[in-house]
Amino acid sequence: MWINVSQQLKASMGSIRDYEVNESVNVAGGKSMVQGEVRLIRTDRGILVKGTLYTEVEITCSRCLSLFNYPLTLNIEEEYFPIADVVSGASLPLPEEPGCFTIDEHHVIDLTEAIRQYALLAIPMKPLCRGDCAGLCSNCGHNLNQGPCDCSPQETEFRWSELSKLTLASDAVVNEQKGTE
Ligand SMILES: [Zn+2]
Ligand SMILES: [Zn+2]
Repeated sequence: MWINVSQQLKASMGSIRDYEVNESVNVAGGKSMVQGEVRLIRTDRGILVKGTLYTEVEITCSRCLSLFNYPLTLNIEEEYFPIADVVSGASLPLPEEPGCFTIDEHHVIDLTEAIRQYALLAIPMKPLCRGDCAGLCSNCGHNLNQGPCDCSPQETEFRWSELSKLTLASDAVVNEQKGTE
């Protein structure tokens, strides 16, 4: 996601530009639509990017292991520093801060990496597809959100009672047949 800021780098400190975001970005192992608006503010050293972006990532439920869509709100606030002077093209020293975001030699900001980093921070450590996710049966691995499995106690009881009814019924049929002979 590229934004050319050459004009703004020539502008005076404090100049503002609003940029609408509506692009697909590779966020967490898959493409996600990212939407929202960021404000670009010219600072003494570079461009401050500030705004709220919305996206949705497909992640795995930590309890039932099914994939589901998880909405994310990203409150971005990052300063980007030019590596080259916009007028002379001379290379500029970057701040000491490790991993700071840069504006490349073509005066372009790439928001992708910031979006990716903010998204990874916003994804919970143990995501749940829903608050009351029933998880998987520890015995057969069946997804209990889709109903009980054959191992659940209620189901077993139900089956036995059905089976005993059948047995009784067939006994009755046999007895009836015997009686008519
Ligand atoms: Zn789940
Ligand atoms: Zn089971």
